[in-house]
Amino acid sequence: SSIVAIVGRPNVGKSTFFNRLIQRRDAIVDSVSGVTRDRNYGKSEWNGREFSVIDTGGYVKGSEDIFESEIRRQVELAIDESDVIVFVVDVEEGINPMDEEVAKLLRKETKPVFLAVNKVDSGNRMDDTYEFYNLGLGEIFPIAGMSGSGTGDLLDAVVAALPEEIEQTEEEELPRFAVVGRPNAGKSSFINALIGEDRYIVTDIAGTTRDAIDTRFNQFGFDFNLVDTAGIRRKAKVKEDLEFYSVMRSIRAIEHSDVCILMVDATRGFEGQDQNIFWLAEKNRKGVVILVNKWDLIDKETMTAVQFENKIREEIAPFTDVPIIFTSTVTKQRLLKALEVAVKVFENRKQRIPTSKFNETMLPIIESTPPPAIKGKYIKIKYCMQLPTPTPQFVFFANLPQYIKDPYKRFVENKLREIYDFEGVPIDIFFRQK
Ligand code: GDP
Repeated sequence: SSIVAIVGRPNVGKSTFFNRLIQRRDAIVDSVSGVTRDRNYGKSEWNGREFSVIDTGGYVKGSEDIFESEIRRQVELAIDESDVIVFVVDVEEGINPMDEEVAKLLRKETKPVFLAVNKVDSGNRMDDTYEFYNLGLGEIFPIAGMSGSGTGDLLDAVVAALPEEIEQTEEEELPRFAVVGRPNAGKSSFINALIGEDRYIVTDIAGTTRDAIDTRFNQFGFDFNLVDTAGIRRKAKVKEDLEFYSVMRSIRAIEHSDVCILMVDATRGFEGQDQNIFWLAEKNRKGVVILVNKWDLIDKETMTAVQFENKIREEIAPFTDVPIIFTSTVTKQRLLKALEVAVKVFENRKQRIPTSKFNETMLPIIESTPPPAIKGKYIKIKYCMQLPTPTPQFVFFANLPQYIKDPYKRFVENKLREIYDFEGVPIDIFFRQK
């Protein structure tokens, strides 16, 4: 989906606006899993159009003495990684030198920019908004992030400026793999080991509305598109990058992929940022393969693959049906195996189970272990099917679907995964009224 980036200096109200857009749905997910994550990415929808939102300010929030270079970086990143930019300023403070700095960077760009003048809570602030025309970014949108007033008009404009979604002809699509992970996990080494000196790159496929991001790979019997992360193109810059930026850079690649190859540095373990990237892939319903890289450096006496694997599965619960492969780009251990598994995950994600077969396998299980009765009422599931959606979704029709709770849903998912191979693939299960 398309990406909208929110930029602006600290304390202008970027995160209030961001939270309004994503309606805190993500925050709820976080509290359940008990994992603290940077709240700077989420999905939103307006006028029936879905898009992703990145709050690029998440990282520098709260610091007043933010360096100019930091702001510059934030804006450059937003320009690189998004389709539309919302620049938030604060009517109470008027134009700040840093706003001018940001405006200068944005004026040079061809991407659509919308200037949101925030904290316009009452009519009499309206007069103060006009000075922002001096930033030279065209129309201004007075908003009050807190109450939401004015945000509708802004979003109408934002959504109208999003690029057309390119429909993919599903049948002939090649797998799209994104190699993601923290800085230094070994992503570039992995890609270099595969493509050598650019010898096996067949074509660059240019998107119609954005830069070329796909690189065709065809070698060793594999044929797929490698979804470029900004990191591959701007390697020099990535090296010094902070974690936050590396996660942000992953977002675009993840969104454009079918399967994410998540590289983890074995010498550092599976940590918060690895989890964040994993969560991004899962949230976007992408296939996932985890590579535990630099396995050559691990003393197998103190840490075995099984121990390492168990630790990762603990961290990624409840979605644990994910392949974990131990690799080394130095000894070239299991690099092709990793591709093979990624292709399998791609196929798993595309599979369609015929309805009759699905009913034949699932209904007897449900009959022998039905959802617990509620207030003496029996819950009956008589029919089920896979939906014709791009990612696997299953619906079970019941007389009282509202009484079916999460533990039962997990039970059904586990059984489904035992019977069918959805390894590496997030799936959705719904219970609906018959
Ligand atoms: P990226 O930031 O994820 O692209 O990581 P790089 O591919 O640049 O690798 C970071 C560092 O780790 C480099 O010094 C690599 O030589 C080293 N490295 C990458 N993969 C391996 C591996 O499998 N084993 C060992 N020993 N070193 C590795």
